[in-house]
Amino acid sequence: MSTNRTFTMIKPDAVANGHIGSIINDFTNAGFKIIALKYTKLTDETAGQFYAVHAERPFYKDLVSFMSSGPIVAAILEKDNAIEDFRKLIGATNPAEAAEGTIRQKYAKSIDANAVHGSDSDENAEIEGNFFFKADERF
Ligand code: UDP
Repeated sequence: MSTNRTFTMIKPDAVANGHIGSIINDFTNAGFKIIALKYTKLTDETAGQFYAVHAERPFYKDLVSFMSSGPIVAAILEKDNAIEDFRKLIGATNPAEAAEGTIRQKYAKSIDANAVHGSDSDENAEIEGNFFFKADERF
């Protein structure tokens, strides 16, 4: 069953390049409601835990060090059909392949530093949201 929620991070590259405001604006303009929001920084350890599903992939180590290289913005967002609509809004993993007007096409420069994360299933949205937010941090 769809929960109508997704989890996102604005990644260190987009934060460092000054895109927090524009990206949150894109979220809300696309109809996503902010349920939880946090400006924080992952450590090597917490980034490793968050991306544990990718532990066997060749880019895992670089991904973990990139994701802990600077602050990020974590958020839970709500909208009908949230997972699919959000993945459409952010675009393909590789910004060179991301559709015109998508967040990754506008703000990302490479497949690793690709501006934003978006959950790929309801189940992962739940797990990822719980990684960052307690019940009393959601509104
Ligand atoms: N990634 C990478 N190199 C790759 C593929 C992915 O560095 O060849 C990174 C990238 O930051 C991506 C994340 O690993 O967003 C998770 O990969 P996934 O395939 O789940 O892509 P996403 O769901 O983020 O589009």
